This record gives sequence, C-alpha cells and structure tokens, in this order.
Amino acid sequence: MIQMLPYGRQSISEEDIEAVTAILRGDWLTTGPAVTAFENAISELTGGHRAVSCTSGTAALHMAYAGLGVGPGDEVVTTPMTFVATASCAAILGAKIVFADVEDDTALIDPAAVEAVVTDRTKVIAAVDYAGHPADYDALQPIADRVGAKTLDDAAHSVGGFYRGRPVGDLADVTTLSFFPTKNLTTGEGGAVVAKDPAVGQKAHEFHFIGLVRDPDRFEITGEGPWHQEVHEHGLNYRLTDLASALGLSQLKRLADFKKRRTEITARYNEAFASVDGLRTPAQRDDVDPAWHLYPVRVLGGRRREVFDNLRAAGIGVQVNYIPVYWHPVFANAGYQRGLCPNAEQFYSEEISLPMFPDLTDSDVDRVIETLTKLVS
Ligand SMILES: *Cc1c(COP(=O)(O)O)cnc(C)c1O
Repeated sequence: MIQMLPYGRQSISEEDIEAVTAILRGDWLTTGPAVTAFENAISELTGGHRAVSCTSGTAALHMAYAGLGVGPGDEVVTTPMTFVATASCAAILGAKIVFADVEDDTALIDPAAVEAVVTDRTKVIAAVDYAGHPADYDALQPIADRVGAKTLDDAAHSVGGFYRGRPVGDLADVTTLSFFPTKNLTTGEGGAVVAKDPAVGQKAHEFHFIGLVRDPDRFEITGEGPWHQEVHEHGLNYRLTDLASALGLSQLKRLADFKKRRTEITARYNEAFASVDGLRTPAQRDDVDPAWHLYPVRVLGGRRREVFDNLRAAGIGVQVNYIPVYWHPVFANAGYQRGLCPNAEQFYSEEISLPMFPDLTDSDVDRVIETLTKLVS
C-alpha cells in the first residue's frame, strides 16, 4: 500500500506547538493579547490597513460584504473560478451574484468581462487571486470607481504575494484571508479582513462581535453604567481565539520561507512540464510576485478525468479547483445556465491541482513529475 501524498498540508514546527501551549498556560484563551498581536502583524504584512481576525475565510467574506453594506438590490460581480464562499457570502446577504468570465491563461477574473456586466447596482467587484497569483487590480479599480462600487480581493490563496510592488492586502478596497490548514499559513480554522477604509474595518469588526457597540460617544441609550454596550446592527460571533492567533503569529515567522519553497516547487514543475505535449503549465504575468498556493496544471485532449484517476491510483493526492461556482445546484436551480463563462468551464475541464506545500521534498516533486509525464505520453 503506497502512502497517499496530499495536494496540500500544513507545516507545524516545535515553535508553533510551544506558542500554542504557552497560551493554554496563560490567562486568556480568547480575545486577548495574542489576537491583537496577530491582527497587528497581519496589518503590517498587508499594507498597514486595519486587520480584523476571524474564524475562517468564509467568515471573513461574510464580514467584508457586511462591512461594505451589501444587501438586497445590490449586485456583486465575481469570478466563477473560486471556492463557492466568494459568491455565497454575498448571496446570503441578499445580493444578486453576477459572474464575469476569467482570462483563458491565468483563470483570473477578466477586467473586460467585468466591464461588460457592471451596472449602477454593482456594489462590489470581487476578484480572487486564484492559485496565489494576484488579479489585475489596476484594471479593476477604475471600473469599480466609475460605477461607484468597491473592490474586494479574496486573497485566500495569495497572502504574501505582490502586484506591481504592492503587497496583497493593499490591492483592493477590502481583502479577505483564510488560514485553513492547506493555505499559505494556518491557524487551524481562521481568517481575516483587511480594509483600507477604517469605517469598513470597524463595521466588519462589529459584525464579527455580535454587533456590539462599546464606544460611549455612539450610544443611543444613555444613563446606564460602565457595563453598558448596545447593538445597532445584527452581527455574529466570528471571533478568533488567542490559541489560534498564537499559532498564526508563530506561522507568520515562516511565511517567507513557505513562499520561497512554494516558488521553488512551482519552478520545478514548470521546467519539467514545459516541453510535455498534452500539459499546459500555469501562466504568470511579469508584474506580479505570486505566493503560489496551488499548482494548477492543465491536461489537454479531454484526458483530465483519466489522468486524475491514475494519479490518485499512484498515491498522488491530486485535487480539482474549482467547479464553476454557478454549476452548484444552489445557483443552477436559480436559473444560472451552463455556458455562461466558457473560459472558466474550459479551465475546469482541464485542471488538476498537483501536490504543493512547503514540506514537499524534491523527491516527492520528482515522483509527481515522473508519474504525470508517463501518464500523458
Ligand atoms: C479557502 C477559501 C475560502 C474559504 O476559506 P475557509 O477558511 O475555508 O472558510 C474562500 N475563498 C477561497 C478562494 C478559498 O480558497
């Protein structure tokens, strides 16, 4: 029985374990100094804007859309080549989701496709830095500005990356991160919202804290006592714990190393597959420094399923990212038709995510290369 190589996994050091156990021995398990320190470190990494930590990347998207005031009557333009949460967190607030197709080579939202679907009801243009490669924000932002919308970067894949010299977190009006174990750094479950506008950051913060207002200057009820706090808008409890934040802080120390290793693995795969007929390697624009989260190789000639099954049979735990979001029955049953975004559908029909994580060894990478090359030739 061969051991299955996963497509992604966390890298946990002794230092990470010590950081978490130190919290267990301390006074705070949640919403203590580790949360503040982690949020400050995330802010520093992502352009110095307000960062609010939370329980997942999905929670971060919900908070970001709520912070931007998304509601019924609004339209949110997004890419179908993403995890469903990018769209569902706006839909759950009552917005209409409008899908814009992706570029054929990068699988990133195509600014020309966005241009074609924006209206005066567009509230947010939500891009995804698919695989860790930042989308084209200098093209998207002017479209948003013209129609009075905001930009959102779902950076679940790309924290640590750069676009035209600017860090992820500084590219869109609002950015969301995920710290799920397969992502670029982990807190177990976890996420964060980064907001350029402090008012949006504050709204996201209150939304993740049950909507509680604690600033006496804003109280509508006066004359209570020092215990008083009050709710102006409904919220949820999406607070990250000190335990998770301590893990995140410790992981951040190795983020640069993680990125370096992910870049090496990408280069190794690219070199090996460049000359293999039947495979297409991921595109990279000149003005970006990606934080590669996935290695999405494309299998040509209608052979994706066969190659996927054979890789799994060989003990290589590949994945497919992603089924076009509007194929999910929740969208399809609401009338979204197949064929809406042909580039995304073509990409989906060819894509396989190969093993990609910092602790992957060169011999693991070589085994993936040899196995896949043999399967397609
Ligand atoms: C992982 C992911 C999310 C959701 O993050 P969770 O932490 O798993 O809730 C959202 N968007 C994208 C693109 C993701 O990859």
